[in-house]
Amino acid sequence: MKQKRYFLADNELPTQWYNIQADMKNKPQPMLSPKTKKPITVDELSQLISREAASQELNFSDAWIDIPEPVLEMYRYYRSTPLVRAYGLEEALGTPAHIYFKNESVSPVGSHKLNSALPQAYYCKKEGATNITTETGAGQWGCALSYASKVFGLECAVYQVKISYNQKPYRRSVMQVFGAQVTPSPSMSTRAGKDILTLYPNHQGSLGTAISEAVELALTTPNCKYALGSVMSHVSLHQTIIGLEAEKQMEKAGEYPDIVIGCFGGGSNFSGISFPFMRHNILDGKKTRFIAAEPESCPKLTRGKFCYDYGDESAYTPLMPMFSLGHNFRPANIHAGGLRYHGAGVVVSQLYKDGLMEAADVSQLQSFEAGLLFSKAEGIIPAPESCHAIAVAVEEAKRCKETGESKVILFNLSGHGLVDMAAYDQYLSGSLTNYTVSPEEIEKNVGNL
Ligand SMILES: *Cc1c(COP(=O)(O)O)cnc(C)c1O
Repeated sequence: MKQKRYFLADNELPTQWYNIQADMKNKPQPMLSPKTKKPITVDELSQLISREAASQELNFSDAWIDIPEPVLEMYRYYRSTPLVRAYGLEEALGTPAHIYFKNESVSPVGSHKLNSALPQAYYCKKEGATNITTETGAGQWGCALSYASKVFGLECAVYQVKISYNQKPYRRSVMQVFGAQVTPSPSMSTRAGKDILTLYPNHQGSLGTAISEAVELALTTPNCKYALGSVMSHVSLHQTIIGLEAEKQMEKAGEYPDIVIGCFGGGSNFSGISFPFMRHNILDGKKTRFIAAEPESCPKLTRGKFCYDYGDESAYTPLMPMFSLGHNFRPANIHAGGLRYHGAGVVVSQLYKDGLMEAADVSQLQSFEAGLLFSKAEGIIPAPESCHAIAVAVEEAKRCKETGESKVILFNLSGHGLVDMAAYDQYLSGSLTNYTVSPEEIEKNVGNL
């Protein structure tokens, strides 16, 4: 047998998300208001995002939060996603390890991002918003929110990082198919965009500039809310549907993971696959290892600094206590693998600081090499982001081969790469190189935080 897949019946799907903040012994330090520098309140936060998302963000007491029925109904369009025993990959590696992956690429937009886009759009609509706005890089989050907005009847405006808007037109088309208005950032349509373009006329955009523009639009437009695709705790909360399903599916497979791996941008898919299992480390003394796989060219966990930093370039967002490379950090343009965000999110940062999880850096070439191996063995071309998780899984499986241990390895396949073939082209033609950030570059950005 080359592959075996485990599913859940509709009546076995989780009906609640898991809020790890309730079980953390050391709670994260508070986020601070950018204006007052005091701990932010639900009232302040809900000027920007939906009140329900704001209260989830600051909920440190309820471990379980109900998934609203209209969101569950939409989840059933594509969930449960398959848990796959990757016999093909095991065979290719000749490893005694048991490798499983959770396949989030089967969602209508091809990634895990829809798991949070649906509830965020739903809450906005329910609370009376008519419009929603966000930023997107490669476009995965923008596609997810565009579709979720269509589902729940909201107008959606997306600021897309300019270089991606021009170089990766197909996700822009997907957003437009779902009726979203897409603007390359930095743009002249906001104060933040104008300021950035005045200083740097050729600025090719970053998630930091796009967030600034979307936040400004939300704060200055009536009935318009902002939604974020990663980093914040409520996004991680929604993504726990991944790990909660995986937990039940692993049970069907008769196994429990020794190692859980997710690629790491702002932390949402890593949190999603990890937190339900980490719960058993915290509460039941399990000893599972959790590894966040980040790119060597944007190493916020392994080489960033734990400090208060903004989520965007113009310092509009709350100040968050997190591992960061600095909100002005710009990843090298040669980097094709995504996961470019400068910060790590509040919850993951605290868990990492407390030693409940690990992080590993993956070079660009190593990630694509693993992605190609996986494609050939399992028949799915992974998103360049997901390749980082695969690379770490491959490394751990090879270690098992050396030691003869048959560890159970679970990783999250956060998305497919069928809209990212330009990056694969670059790899196949040999034009990609590795890129390591210099210590001076990191110090320049985080030194004064
Ligand atoms: C956005 C994205 C990521 C990175 O974001 P996280 O919040 O860290 O999960 C990873 N993989 C895919 C396919 C994505 O679209």
